[in-house]
Amino acid sequence: MIERKIDRELVLKIIEREKQRLDNLSVFGGFSNFLSGWFTERGEGGDFYSLLLNYDNLTLEERSKLLQDMEEKLKSQSDDGDILKVSSPDLPSPEKEKSFSDGEGNLSTPVRYIKGVGPVLEKKLNRLEIKTAEDLIFFFPRYYRDRGEVKPISQLRGEGWETIQGVVTSQSRVATRRGPLLKIAVSDGTGKINLVCFNRNYLAKTLRKGVKVQVSGNFRRSFGNWEVADFDYQLVTKENHRWDRIIPIYSLTEGLSLKKLQSIIYYALDNFLGEVEEILPSSLVARHNFLPKRVAIEELHRPSRSSVAELNSRRSRAHLTIIFEEFLLFALSLKIRRQELADCEVPPCVSDSALVKNFLVQLPFTLTSAQERVVKEIHEDLVSGRLMNRLVQGDVGSGKTLVALLGALQVIDSGRQVAFMVPTEILAEQHYNRFKDLLSSLGVRVGLLKGGTNKEKKKLIEEIRKGEVDLVIGTHALIEENITFPQLGLTIVDEQHRFGVLQRAKLKEKASIPHLLVMTATPIPRTLALTLYGDLDISVVDEKPAGRKPVTTLCFSLKERFKAYNRVRKQIEEGRQAFVVCPAIEESEAEISNVVEVTELLRSSWLSGFRIEMIHGKLPSREKEEIMERFSRGDIDVLVATSVIEVGIDIPNASVMVIENAERFGLAQLHQLRGRIGRGEAAGLCILLAEARTEEARRRMEIMVATDDGFRIAEEDLRLRGPGEFYGVRQHGVPEFHLADPFEDWSILERANEEAKLILDEDPELKREENRLLKKEINRRFGRYLEFGEIS
Ligand code: ADP
Ligand code: MG
Repeated sequence: MIERKIDRELVLKIIEREKQRLDNLSVFGGFSNFLSGWFTERGEGGDFYSLLLNYDNLTLEERSKLLQDMEEKLKSQSDDGDILKVSSPDLPSPEKEKSFSDGEGNLSTPVRYIKGVGPVLEKKLNRLEIKTAEDLIFFFPRYYRDRGEVKPISQLRGEGWETIQGVVTSQSRVATRRGPLLKIAVSDGTGKINLVCFNRNYLAKTLRKGVKVQVSGNFRRSFGNWEVADFDYQLVTKENHRWDRIIPIYSLTEGLSLKKLQSIIYYALDNFLGEVEEILPSSLVARHNFLPKRVAIEELHRPSRSSVAELNSRRSRAHLTIIFEEFLLFALSLKIRRQELADCEVPPCVSDSALVKNFLVQLPFTLTSAQERVVKEIHEDLVSGRLMNRLVQGDVGSGKTLVALLGALQVIDSGRQVAFMVPTEILAEQHYNRFKDLLSSLGVRVGLLKGGTNKEKKKLIEEIRKGEVDLVIGTHALIEENITFPQLGLTIVDEQHRFGVLQRAKLKEKASIPHLLVMTATPIPRTLALTLYGDLDISVVDEKPAGRKPVTTLCFSLKERFKAYNRVRKQIEEGRQAFVVCPAIEESEAEISNVVEVTELLRSSWLSGFRIEMIHGKLPSREKEEIMERFSRGDIDVLVATSVIEVGIDIPNASVMVIENAERFGLAQLHQLRGRIGRGEAAGLCILLAEARTEEARRRMEIMVATDDGFRIAEEDLRLRGPGEFYGVRQHGVPEFHLADPFEDWSILERANEEAKLILDEDPELKREENRLLKKEINRRFGRYLEFGEIS
């Protein structure tokens, strides 16, 4: 027990060291390698595991957060707690719980009845969303590791995973400050290696002198000798000659080891795979050269015919087979949903709206031609008598709000209500004030719905219910609360990337189905848009209003702060207003600027004499409102804020922005932030104060300085971070697939889309016998995406 405790302390020590450096080099062989190996070995680290594997791609902030979390977790575990239970890696621990004998049960059998799974393990599996035998079968490996060919020790290269075979020649305990550390020497006649057994003292029993063993791992040179700490092994005996070169790597959770999970999955495969149905029509399987579904599943878990490279590229035949099927089902359900919506008849809106005309007359500028085009597209939807489902895409500042507002007016003029959803209260407030000014003279009744409870709000909800409010602006309070819109004609969702697909669906359930208009500043490639918004038409506002002065972007290091704020001072003296954005509200980490401190510093020194206020999420709404109002009236010179001002806020005279610790923000976010300035007459100035310690961070700053083009920035961001991160949609309502990934596998998605179209052209309601199982599966898996429930 004491030794184990020491091991954990060693790990804590290493985490401590890594916290100082954040460079993944705090331990020999790479910190993330080491720790993920340590976790895997004892089947823990569930939540951390995937982050660790991706450690190199994390920002410094994310790294330090991860380290903090792991440290807390490790410290909170008692000596005899979960974490220290180590089971032999080779033998699945025998479980006494009741299991059924082979051959009984079916795909929906709960995991607890599976051999080797007791209540404790069941809980762990549930954490991975594994509840039934079927879930086990469809719980696919995340990637595959190649153990490599067995090679002589003299030919080890020290790159990637390598495999050797030899005989244990000795064991030793090396004294370290943290206690004895087990080392096991293995020799093959051409050389010698040392197994460094962190927290694996049980190996002393298994790997005795004279035992023949095969070892795979990340071999490293240390003082002229080969060492390996991150390794797995297998004894070489007469019975045990099978050596799987490819190891499937699964997501794990605390207390569940790779070997254990693998053995349960194999059990499920051996007993239940036969019940998995082939749902693709056989003609289609043949045409695309897919594997039979069961063979494909087997191959993904126990590869025998694919190479690791093929598997990891996700383009093995097994991958293509399963991914295609998943996408096909999803594409079919979206197309069916789309058709259902298209079949919905709604009263057409007035075509010639006086309200729209009167509004345009008082507008101080004319629409850009891109705005005009999109307005026309929306107009046509609204008068068609069919439901509109439209996504409006356009870079920050392209004037999407106005486009949406014109659509809203047309609906209101037709006697119906409009719900306008925005992501933050500050933005709701701003829209409300602006719309009220523009619309009250036209007789349009505008309401602002906020979270919380009070009398005013009750009254508003009552007015909405009575149809006395035409346009309601709010955050997700609009869908969360039980509000009845008797005549809801249109729902507008601004800055869609903040809302998920499901929320959108929820809003629609409120009353009879309204038209839907979704706006986003995120450029989404067409194929992806098809998956994420497969039921939407797409309009693009690809032009910014004329006369915009460009925004100059400069990058200073934190040491040059004073110089930076001097430039800000000059701008304010010329009558401009400035935003200062900080990554944190209060002091959290030593090196991160926070709103409270920066406000003080600005007031007392750098920008003393000006009117400086702060705003952030922790202030009461009342206060936030008041400050935003004063800022937009020009009664405040400098507003120090968190990234709450990132979305939507529009204050034309605020033409200067300083972003503190800019390296802490992603490209998309920086672009959104910068989009707040350069909206008025004056040329904008954006100053990035950055301590770019990584190459990637430097690159981000360079891109921001070099271009203001949202699409270019999006492209670069994609390149730097990978699509899932950039679109921020992983967490937001992308439907769950077992294996398919809309970002990685979009080319397969494209094919599935085409195939779905062919199928529905021939058999729109999936009534044919060959499509029967397809329909059944669509209802089972994607029924909730269908507007009117399952298809019959
Ligand atoms: P976004 O597309 O980022 O939501 P907004 O709708 O907030 O952009 O518009 C940005 C600013 O441009 C607002 O101040 C708006 O009044 C102004 N604007 C919109 N359309 C035009 C136009 N055609 N000409 C001039 N200014 C415009
Ligand atoms: Mg906007």
